[in-house]
Amino acid sequence: MLKFLFGSKNDRYLKKLEPIIAQINDLEPQMQALSDEDFPAKINQWKDEVQNQGRDLDDLLPECFALVREAGRRAMGMRHYDVQLIGGMVLHQGKISEMKTGEGKTLVATLAVVLNALSCKGVHVVTVNDYLAKRDAEWMGQLYGFLGLTVGVIVHGLSDEERKAAYASDITYGTNNEFGFDYLRDNMKFYKEQLVQRELNYAIVDEVDSILIDEARTPLIISGAADSASGLYQRINGLVPSLKMSTPRDPEDKDTPPDGDFELDEKGKTITLTDAGVEKCEELLGIDNLFDPQHISLQHHILQALKAHHCFHLDVDYMVTEGQVVLVDEFTGRPMPGRRLSEGLHQAIEAKEGVKVESENQTLASITFQNYFRMYEKLAGMTGTADTESVEFNQIYGLEVIVIPTHKDMIRKDHPDAIFKSQQEKYNAIALDIQDCYKRGQPVLVGTVSIEKSELISRMLKKLKVPHNVLNAKHHENEAQIVAEAGEKQKVTIATNMAGRGTDIKLGEGVKELGGLHILGTERHESRRIDNQLRGRSGRQGDPGSSRFYLALDDDLMRLFGSDRLKGIMERLGMEEGQAIENKMVSGAIEKSQTRVENHHFEIRKQLLEYDDVMNQQRHAIYELRRDLMSAESMDGIVEEYAEDLFEEILSPALAEKNLDDETKAAVRLRLEEVFDFGRYEGFRNSDELPGLDQAMAWTKDILKVLEASAPGHYQEILRYFLLESLDRNWKEHLLNMDHLRDGIGLRGYGQKDPKQEYKREGFELFQEMIYTIKETAMRAFCHLRIEAEVKEEEFQHETNEDVEYQDSESSRRKQTTVRRDAPKVGRNDPCPCGSGKKYKKCCGK
Ligand code: ADP
Repeated sequence: MLKFLFGSKNDRYLKKLEPIIAQINDLEPQMQALSDEDFPAKINQWKDEVQNQGRDLDDLLPECFALVREAGRRAMGMRHYDVQLIGGMVLHQGKISEMKTGEGKTLVATLAVVLNALSCKGVHVVTVNDYLAKRDAEWMGQLYGFLGLTVGVIVHGLSDEERKAAYASDITYGTNNEFGFDYLRDNMKFYKEQLVQRELNYAIVDEVDSILIDEARTPLIISGAADSASGLYQRINGLVPSLKMSTPRDPEDKDTPPDGDFELDEKGKTITLTDAGVEKCEELLGIDNLFDPQHISLQHHILQALKAHHCFHLDVDYMVTEGQVVLVDEFTGRPMPGRRLSEGLHQAIEAKEGVKVESENQTLASITFQNYFRMYEKLAGMTGTADTESVEFNQIYGLEVIVIPTHKDMIRKDHPDAIFKSQQEKYNAIALDIQDCYKRGQPVLVGTVSIEKSELISRMLKKLKVPHNVLNAKHHENEAQIVAEAGEKQKVTIATNMAGRGTDIKLGEGVKELGGLHILGTERHESRRIDNQLRGRSGRQGDPGSSRFYLALDDDLMRLFGSDRLKGIMERLGMEEGQAIENKMVSGAIEKSQTRVENHHFEIRKQLLEYDDVMNQQRHAIYELRRDLMSAESMDGIVEEYAEDLFEEILSPALAEKNLDDETKAAVRLRLEEVFDFGRYEGFRNSDELPGLDQAMAWTKDILKVLEASAPGHYQEILRYFLLESLDRNWKEHLLNMDHLRDGIGLRGYGQKDPKQEYKREGFELFQEMIYTIKETAMRAFCHLRIEAEVKEEEFQHETNEDVEYQDSESSRRKQTTVRRDAPKVGRNDPCPCGSGKKYKKCCGK
């Protein structure tokens, strides 16, 4: 009643746009008077006004739309209809335009695309496959080119250079997969010059329902074999029995040398290799120098393997259940399935216990489409079918759905469902219906939910000698071609849901008279939206057409929801063998059950998203940190800050304690030595006390100075490299841990606790631990790094070095090829040039 009096919200919204349409129409003669050259000139002028004079895009909309319309007419012979202008405005406002198939969404997008391209921050048009990206970019490229705007296409198989160029264009077409993967890949790069994407400014997602709803459950994942394949864990594990533990020494005792290959500090759960141990490992592994940067991971694995054997005990610290190493909570003694030790320690224990080492093919980066697209400054979408999912679009993406009226009235006749008792009766009727269309010459498009069903119908048609095409969404380009011809006389096309998506079907000669394209659905989909997509292929732009769905009581959907009641109704109606019924009540009941399934799926997606939100926040934080590290001019401030954070963690609590016992003191000193290599300072070596914070900071700065002096001109890059390396390695580990946490959280008995909250809490703890480890790993690298005299400059040279300004190309070439050799080359067994009297490999060479 209210709707009748005031019109729906949708109507009111459309009404508000009317005056703007009138404005655009009024501008038409003015635009028609322009010469072709005036078009790019106007665009450039507007670009300048938007960028430099702060002119508002909304303010420019009528003029810009009028210009695009005229450009469309001149460049492509297509003048945007008024309803298309409405669609364009809806897109510009960051909403979803629901426009029926054949209404010309490809052309509609150009309006919002051009207007938003004026801000010069990039506009992305997202399609469901490469074929459509290419087709639309080329097709609409005529219009863009006429306006002097550049268009790029991102498809599978491009190089980074090509991608970068495409993203630098005013307008970029591409698939959701490519955009998403480029984002993830960018966040694995080491130099900002290698980034291909610009900021995520504005995206128009075509077929927005299939991308944001149908594909919402499968995230994009970049995975790779972990650098430390399981083989390495096993190999290193094999060394452990050969390594002998030193007799524990009194911490006071500095004179007795350790008598084994490694020393164990039980309390701090730390292990250090002795000189003898290092030599033994080198020998066993057949390598020359364990401390060579290329063996950094071997070193790490050896220590972890030793820890696994000597600090972690079966059925105390962990248990092995069903081939998995499950940690045991040290306080409660409860198993903690899903929790994993980081830094390869868990894998080392797995190798020790001879169970499967979980590290092959791990996730390096992942994101869901929801979360990728939510990052855009402004997001818009178009599709023929969004209205049934408008609640979800609104709740999850804040996207409002506006239903745009069709250009011409829709006259397709949608017949009520035909319902049969069994599959066999249903398929017989389908085959006969198709045969009938074929005989009369009316084209028919048969929609199935699976390839098997398509093949079943195909076999039946072969028997009836009805020629037909079968499509299954595997060959986008060919299928688009076949679907485009599906409206010709006598054509029979069988297609799964996705096949030929995005291509519209024009009617052939004389087909209108035969009733247009007939759509035949072989069962109802769980979601009404998918059914509407199929129907929408017929009746485009005021064409005649018809549709009918065939159902059977034993269809999946019918069985799952309310088939007993249906059966009752049907029996009461006195249904006979082979006979179909058409009944409003039954169709209504089916729609109701579809709505129920839709809601159920929405809940599942919402749940998933809530879990994913935790990861999403962490990913944001890490990627932001990464970008900061990548783009910082100088790393000095960051590194000092990290050192302070580490001291805050390691040193401050001990310093704050009044009665510090010797054991704790020794443990803290050991940590300082391990991480910061303070042992190189006499002031540290010759004391049992803890250094003050100022002293610790002063030493750290000194160590960094020494490093800087040993690699002039490359110091900043070295810092950056190790920080990013540490971040990536630990983040990768963390992703794995989060996966395991999530898998395990459901298994744990949480009593009254909400698993989602638990996941959030523990996820946050793991994240904090990881951030700490990133700092520690990097600091450890800085303080233990010795740049050997013969290190070639190229090793730290990056591809496009912008922060070094070369005078001319000649000197730049010289600079890059000169091998720095400011110290004599020293052999590993030579006496160390520092004058310590030790062998080089045991002193500075270490
Ligand atoms: P949709 O994606 O909405 O199903 P398309 O973008 O594929 O529709 O366009 C359908 C057809 O309508 C295309 O062949 C296109 O050339 C045509 N078309 C769209 N808009 C116009 C227009 N304003 N004038 C003439 N033809 C148009």
